[in-house]
Amino acid sequence: MKLQFWGVRGSIPAPGPDTAHFGGNTSCLHLMAEGQPAIILDAGTGIRKLGIELLRNHKDKKEIHLLFSHTHWDHIQGLPFFAPLYIPGFSIHIYGPVHYEKSLEHILDQQMEYTYFPVRVAELQAKISYHELKEESFNIGDITVRTKYLNHPVLCLGYRFERNGKAIVYCTDHEPYYNFLGEDDGGEEVNMVVEDQNNRLKDFIRGADLLVMDTQYTEEEYPSHQGWGHSSTVHNVGLIANCGIKRLAMFHHDPDRTDADEKKIVELMRRLGKDAGLDVEIFGAREGLSIEV
Ligand SMILES: [Zn+2]
Ligand SMILES: [Zn+2]
Repeated sequence: MKLQFWGVRGSIPAPGPDTAHFGGNTSCLHLMAEGQPAIILDAGTGIRKLGIELLRNHKDKKEIHLLFSHTHWDHIQGLPFFAPLYIPGFSIHIYGPVHYEKSLEHILDQQMEYTYFPVRVAELQAKISYHELKEESFNIGDITVRTKYLNHPVLCLGYRFERNGKAIVYCTDHEPYYNFLGEDDGGEEVNMVVEDQNNRLKDFIRGADLLVMDTQYTEEEYPSHQGWGHSSTVHNVGLIANCGIKRLAMFHHDPDRTDADEKKIVELMRRLGKDAGLDVEIFGAREGLSIEV
């Protein structure tokens, strides 16, 4: 399998000369495997260029599987600019976490209302089907896909892809479970639930050849952003310890982070990993980079 990054930024696009190295587009990744349909993770602004790339250089891939982690703006805002949606003959399967008050179709349709955008979902030429997911397992071609709920202010899924004994895991927009009543006030039971959930995530990422992980904040920044649904450098060192992860892609870069700042955080994360005795290759995800496992 090969994973290519088309958008790595969190929260809002951040274009400009001081973010050109890592890139300013919001979340979008392309997962490729020989003879398999195209798989896209999230439709942040990075999906616009990926759509053009698919039309130019992957003409045979008329079946596209688009998997949403969740429906916050930075993960859906590129969708109306995804060219294959407008072309007859494309079959696009859209997946995302089930919402109990609105269907996935309705949520995506809303951002294409005339107030915001000139074309309605009903006018798109591709054949579109919707698949609402909980924690489950299914196949796309010969790739096995497994989902796991993450800890974020809206229902959010992590995805694990396995093929020929290799695994890629995508976990963005997540912060570690914690006892919001306070470690002491919440009682033993809440602490056990928190520990159980954090262990379940460890099981989900275990043995990944490549883990793409939310690393938006440093340890100093995190306390003022607790509850926003993003992780810190130190959290992630704890998460991947003893999980047998081969490569860690730091992802969902803060929009205020310049390239110089991001490079420092990657260095910090490497140092923390080394101090903790981790044998993991750590790097910052950047637009255009592709990794093969
Ligand atoms: Zn996000
Ligand atoms: Zn989010």
